[in-house]
Amino acid sequence: MNLKYIGKDKESKRVIDLGDNVKIGNENFTIIGGPCSVESKEQISKIAKFLFEKNVKILRGGAFKPRTSPYSFQGLGLKGLKYLKDSAEKYQLKIISEILDPRDVEKSIDYIDIIQIGSRNMQNYALLKEVGKFNKPIMLKRGMNATIEEWLMAAEYIALEGNENIVLCERGIRTFDNFTRNTLDMTAVPILKGLTKLPVIVDPSHGTGIRHLVSPMSKAAAAVGADGIMVEVHFNPEEALSDGHQSIDFREFQELIDETKKIYDCIY
Ligand code: PEP
Ligand code: MN
Repeated sequence: MNLKYIGKDKESKRVIDLGDNVKIGNENFTIIGGPCSVESKEQISKIAKFLFEKNVKILRGGAFKPRTSPYSFQGLGLKGLKYLKDSAEKYQLKIISEILDPRDVEKSIDYIDIIQIGSRNMQNYALLKEVGKFNKPIMLKRGMNATIEEWLMAAEYIALEGNENIVLCERGIRTFDNFTRNTLDMTAVPILKGLTKLPVIVDPSHGTGIRHLVSPMSKAAAAVGADGIMVEVHFNPEEALSDGHQSIDFREFQELIDETKKIYDCIY
C-alpha cells in the first residue's frame, strides 16, 4: 500500500489543531457531540449550550444531509451552517459539518472548522480533490462498503492535493448481519494507528444505529486506542428530524462521558 503522505513515520503523529487549544490526536480523548441535523436556530443553540456546560469543545450538526430517501428532511443547507456558527461563537465551540457537493466547499468553508466527508462520498474523487485544495481539517468517514485500503487511498487523494490535516472516522460497514445498522469495525482502530500517522475517531451512533449500543461502543473506542468519538445527541431524540433512534439524550450523554472517561483514564 503506497501511503506516501499519511503513512506512519517514526517522528511525527499528526495533531489536528483547531485553534483555541482544541486539538485532535494529542494524547487526549476528544468527544464530539451534536445532533444528526441542524433543525432550527433554537435547537442547535440549546444543544450547543449543553455541550459547553459539559466541556465538550466540538459541535457536530449536518446542514447538507445525505438522506437515503429524497423525501426525507434534506437539511437547512447554508442557513443551517449560519445557525451552527452563531451557536458555536456564543458557546466557544468548534464546528464539524458535512459537505456533499464540491460546488458548496468554497461558500461553506468559513462556517466550518472541520469538513466532514460522509460515508457515501468517501470515493467521490472530485469532492476529495476539492477539499484537498483548502487548508481546512477534514474528517474522512469510512465508506460503508470500503476496505481499509480503499479508505486510506481516499485519504491519500486529499493529502496529494496539499491538505494533510485529515482525521479518519470509523462509522461501521455493511455485513451480512442487519441487526445493527452497520457493523462497527473496532479492529480498524489499531490497524489504522499502526499504518498511519492520522488521528482516528469512532462514530458509535451510525456504527450501531441503536441508542443503547452507543455508550458501550464509546467505551470500546476508548479501550482500543481511538483518539475520540463523535456522538449524536439531542434533547428530544424522539422528535429529531433524522436519526432519532440512534441519538442519545442529555442524561445519557452525561453518563456516556463519565463512563468513557473512566475507561480511558484507567488504560492510558
Ligand atoms: C453523519 O455523520 O452525519 C452521517 C451522515 O454519517 P455517515 O456518512 O457515516 O453515514
Ligand atoms: Mn445521522
